[in-house]
Amino acid sequence: MKDIDMIQDLPSVTGHSDSDSTAGNKKKPKQKPIKLFEAALAQIQKAASLIELDPEYMAILSQPQNEVIVNFPVRMDSGHLQMFTGYRIQHNNILGPYKGGLRFHPAVDLDEVKALAAWMTFKSALVGIPFGGAKGGVTIDPNKYSEAEICRIVRRFTHALSYNIGPEHDIPAPDVGTNSQTMDWIMDTYANTNSPSARQAVKGVVTGKSVECGGSISREAATGQGVLYCLRHWCGQNEVTLDSLSVGVQGLGNVGGHFMRLACEAGCKIRVVGDHHATIKNAEGLDVADVLAWVKENGSLKDYPGAEHIDSDALFAEPVDVFVPAALENQINLSRAKTMQCQLIIEAANGPTTSEAEQLLLDRGVEIVPDILANSGGVIVSYFEWLQNKSAHYWAADDIQHELRSLIWGAYDQVISCRERLHSTTREAAYAVALYRLREVYDRRGIFP
Ligand code: NAD
Repeated sequence: MKDIDMIQDLPSVTGHSDSDSTAGNKKKPKQKPIKLFEAALAQIQKAASLIELDPEYMAILSQPQNEVIVNFPVRMDSGHLQMFTGYRIQHNNILGPYKGGLRFHPAVDLDEVKALAAWMTFKSALVGIPFGGAKGGVTIDPNKYSEAEICRIVRRFTHALSYNIGPEHDIPAPDVGTNSQTMDWIMDTYANTNSPSARQAVKGVVTGKSVECGGSISREAATGQGVLYCLRHWCGQNEVTLDSLSVGVQGLGNVGGHFMRLACEAGCKIRVVGDHHATIKNAEGLDVADVLAWVKENGSLKDYPGAEHIDSDALFAEPVDVFVPAALENQINLSRAKTMQCQLIIEAANGPTTSEAEQLLLDRGVEIVPDILANSGGVIVSYFEWLQNKSAHYWAADDIQHELRSLIWGAYDQVISCRERLHSTTREAAYAVALYRLREVYDRRGIFP
């Protein structure tokens, strides 16, 4: 359970306002909480106004269709019973089955999951795959439990969600604190609670499974790979080469870890990285393979011997060309944005930039590739996994890379041309492309009855 082990003793960073810098090892007094779902709606509303979306459609998209909250008991190794609270928010399914990750983290709450679910609707719509948006999670610090306890929690959560999920209805995937092992347990639990004749057909109830259990080749690295495709595209447009770029990364889990490895292989110099325990830098470029091996062995960057350790806030102020936030929401706040020196931010995490920080950065000419485009590689390859499970025909790695690249670059091109047409920010344009697709389908299908 490597990914789960990595999120030990996390400070709660989700949903705090601009002057709240709780990330990493330095704590400051907490300020007024940011309501994440409200912030997500404000982003969508800006694009809706730009394209003069009928307010009736915005009213529909401003609420999740279903909010499932489950409280369930699990027997601990000690013999005691403990209650857990889990969520599955189904935001919208006009384009296809609900789709989105499951997060195991102490800061998971209804507001966070609602925002993450809404972002999924727009991500799928933007890249043109036939999925809706959902997200779920359990409010838990996974590091405090044994692997056997986590397994029972996952299975009992799956059972509690019951027929609220399904391969043609709602398809979870990994997110913070969950991984392919989690998905294998969910698939197995779900299959075993179906009739024997249906068990093989329900493998697609989750994506992000291990390859052995029906997962897709390349799914694990897909989100980080997609982030690198965005960076490549940006390089092409700006006539720079990857090997001329220095990069900073926050978060070395599934997304940040794979991105950093692939970016290094492509020639980028990774100058500074941080996780929830430590931040390290080397102006000449970190030894990425060595850093990742340390994190795999020790669970975090803490005590990594091969580089200079700096304060967690200093991560943002380091002089790099490109900064990639790949941890949690609201990490690039106003005070950190003021110190940033990069020319490009690629949002690998969901919602990493507060609106005030974004405004300041845009005013300074920093380009931002928004999350719903930048981290769409995960849901795109999840779509491929779902297709492969349906057909029981498995694709080669080259085919997956080819399809992934063409979907991301196609969406990126549409966003750029929409941005020019609307004279908007890149984020507004990304939402606008998604809204055009959603509007078209609502126009054609109408409102039942
Ligand atoms: P993960 O659990 O594998 O890794 C999270 C990383 O963030 C860890 O390195 C952890 O140390 C770090 N981190 C956590 N809190 C931090 C803090 N306060 N300060 C600094 N670092 C901190 O999670 P992941 O799957 O890599 O997801 C990361 C982000 O990417 C999330 O926003 C997630 O929603 C988004 N995302 C993930 C996927 C996916 O396929 N896993 C797809 C799309 C988007």
